[in-house]
Amino acid sequence: MSTPMSTPMSTPTAAARQSLAQGRSYLAIPGPSVMPDAVLRAMHRASPNIYTGELLDITEGLIPDLKRVARTAHNVAIYISNGHGAWEAVLSNVLAPGDKVLVSANGLFGHGWADMARGLGADPEIVEFGMRAPMDVARVADALKRDKSHEIKAVMATHVDTSSSVKNDIAGLRRAMDAVGHPALLMVDCIASMGCDRFEMDDWGVDVAVAASQKGFMVPPGLGFVFFNDKAAEVRAAMPRVSRYWDWQPRANPDMHYQYFGGTSPTHHIYGLRTALDMIHAEGIENVWARHATLARAIWAACEVWGKGGPLEINISDSENRSAAVTALRIGAPHGLALRNWLTDQAGVTLGIGLGMATDEDPDSEGFFRIGHMGHVNAHMVMGVLGSIEAGFSALDIPHGAGALEAAAKVIAQA
Ligand SMILES: *Cc1c(COP(=O)(O)O)cnc(C)c1O
Repeated sequence: MSTPMSTPMSTPTAAARQSLAQGRSYLAIPGPSVMPDAVLRAMHRASPNIYTGELLDITEGLIPDLKRVARTAHNVAIYISNGHGAWEAVLSNVLAPGDKVLVSANGLFGHGWADMARGLGADPEIVEFGMRAPMDVARVADALKRDKSHEIKAVMATHVDTSSSVKNDIAGLRRAMDAVGHPALLMVDCIASMGCDRFEMDDWGVDVAVAASQKGFMVPPGLGFVFFNDKAAEVRAAMPRVSRYWDWQPRANPDMHYQYFGGTSPTHHIYGLRTALDMIHAEGIENVWARHATLARAIWAACEVWGKGGPLEINISDSENRSAAVTALRIGAPHGLALRNWLTDQAGVTLGIGLGMATDEDPDSEGFFRIGHMGHVNAHMVMGVLGSIEAGFSALDIPHGAGALEAAAKVIAQA
């Protein structure tokens, strides 16, 4: 066929329709997050040599700069994986079949990590806080107190559970563990929070922290990061066996570059991450956290106003316990689904789905949505999302309080 393809879109077809979604879209889901153009440009290149040359130097440079984000002076191992891979990496280094772990859960991801431990033959005891409350460290401490023979090898917690958007008090958890005098490792899922919410690995006494590339790090999915201190390294050293691929020891202390990744390096992700870390450290991690905190407060201010005149409700009621990276919202079925669809089709904004919120009345979580505000996000993007939601409320006749955008703008103006 020699049909010329040079006049696309010149004649509207039956399928074509007018939409205000044309233009730059915003994937406002809690990961993968928005990728900076600079990160994309850094990745747009021919395959580099993996044996010599700049890729090796760039990789070496990532190590200290990753640790600066996690606020640790200890070790980091990088995996070609998503967050689930990094979860499994952690567990593979410190848990043997039959080992007991205590898991604090207030969302889907707490349960997901616990289930992964179960899959490796460990025995997780779950301290459940539901989908709307932060961890109560006293209840975790009680469970540790009952463990008089110190069989629990690790306490696993999510810093931010992305499904509920709760933020947990990790420093308080360490204090409670110390007060009980329990020697378990403290292992924290920071996949959603790192580079968004303040996290101080060493100051808070965290032994193992897990992160991934596609949230606060602004890089495509594909890299998992495991930070571990010397206490965790000792637990690893005492393991009867550790799977070769997940073993963090050679990755964190490689004799040659090939060992950093247990094989071929993630060439393009290395370039992307280099640029993303440059951006984070040029802004300053404290400023990165402050930016997220302000933008989150702007979103919450708008949501609170909307909620005064309609069904919208922020899932976590106390702002102290909310993440600055993601906000989970309840609006009732079918409003959540309708709003998400309207925003994608008519405004070019994709909101996050409700996760882990299914009930008998709402089996598909149609009454929920989440706003991802992690990583490469600024004031105009947040105002754009909020304005689009406001338009969606009007278009769909969803009752809502008036003045939400003014409330959000005020937060931004006062910052
Ligand atoms: C995204 C996320 C995960 C899962 O990461 P994947 O890359 O999807 O495997 C785990 N925990 C938390 C808190 C997350 O936000």
